[in-house]
Amino acid sequence: MSIQLNETHDPSLTSWVASANTPDTDFPIQNLPFCVFRPRGSVQAFRGGVAIGDQILDLAALGDALDGAGEMARAAAALGARDSLNALMAAGQGSWSALRLALSRLLRSDAAPRPRMLVPQSDAEYAVPANIGDYTDFYTSIHHATAVGRLFRPDNPLLPNYKWVPIGYHGRSSTIGVSGQSFPRPLGQVRSASEAEPGFGPSRKMDYELEVGIFVGSGNAQGEPIAAGRAEASIFGLCLLNDWSARDLQAWEYQPLGPFLSKNFASTISPWIVTLEALAPYRAPWQRDAADPQPLPYLDYAELRGAGGLDIELEVLLETEAMRRDGLAPVRLSQSNFRHSYWTVAQLLAHHTVNGCAMRAGDLLGSGTQSGPQAEEAGSLLELTVGGKQALTLPNGEQRVFLEDGDRIVMRGWAARAGHPRIGFGEVAGTLLPAR
Ligand code: CA
Repeated sequence: MSIQLNETHDPSLTSWVASANTPDTDFPIQNLPFCVFRPRGSVQAFRGGVAIGDQILDLAALGDALDGAGEMARAAAALGARDSLNALMAAGQGSWSALRLALSRLLRSDAAPRPRMLVPQSDAEYAVPANIGDYTDFYTSIHHATAVGRLFRPDNPLLPNYKWVPIGYHGRSSTIGVSGQSFPRPLGQVRSASEAEPGFGPSRKMDYELEVGIFVGSGNAQGEPIAAGRAEASIFGLCLLNDWSARDLQAWEYQPLGPFLSKNFASTISPWIVTLEALAPYRAPWQRDAADPQPLPYLDYAELRGAGGLDIELEVLLETEAMRRDGLAPVRLSQSNFRHSYWTVAQLLAHHTVNGCAMRAGDLLGSGTQSGPQAEEAGSLLELTVGGKQALTLPNGEQRVFLEDGDRIVMRGWAARAGHPRIGFGEVAGTLLPAR
């Protein structure tokens, strides 16, 4: 069941943190996303924090600020002050919601300012916000699946299971990093269509994938599926995810068991997790063509069609080494929206557990590349350059088919709706380094 709007969503709320009241901030008081941070360059412990304007509310510095807020909110704040958010995630939706309400009231214009609870975001460094036990990546954009399928299998782009099963594969959590991550170009086996045998060397077809990450909150015991209609209560929140991909490794290795070394050398997430409660005003209808199969009963639920989707704008920007040297701003490569997803976040969690698979607090699901219906809304270079055949020309004259060493990819996301403030995800940035 989706979260109803409550006093924390009131569009008229403002904060005593003045930067939270500017129309272009990602972090007005209606958002309140979570991170794990510490002052940059310090040896202090990482701890949980909540974004407000250009500041972080330090959950470890609340002191007696929540004394009047009720036991559940105080307990949740104590869990959130730890060096990962897993314990808060495991505490469940009632705890997350109680803490959100308490923090909203603490930060409102009519509350006493407590600037000593704040750390400027410009002075902070971030950690991956949870210990991610397991990571699964899905493939929920039918536009991406069709475009990529056409490149890999021109005569058979969309496999027949796509419209029935939320397609996914088990990835690795060990190489997931937080925004700011850099990593060397991976080495591996590649074989081009003209070669009889594969060679070995650095990937020459490095790509990004524009995705939404879904953090599991309260999990399930093995053998006890999470029903689709209750799945959202088990989701702590969403982040931005760049699923870096080596297309040449992928093309050679992916059959018959799916992606392997083409994906697990690095994945980068935003430091901020925006809760589903914060996203409640930005729900979107979920639509399925009448000509397509309707979901099987275990993937269907009461609120699916009316409000199963999420209206989240997503964009990808590129900053090359030359642009950095010349002081040029990153250039936007594409823009898309999560509402185009063929499957909802609730369907992903319901499908993942329907066989009895256990999910744990802090597990991460990737949405798959979020490409929109138009070609220019593609969430990867593979699509934007039609498999590397049509180079992109950047405003400074540089060209790209795939990523070059030193390229930095930035992804942003935000939700906006008339009558409600814009809330954002911040950004996820990562840099490709030369092969070692
Ligand atoms: Ca992916």
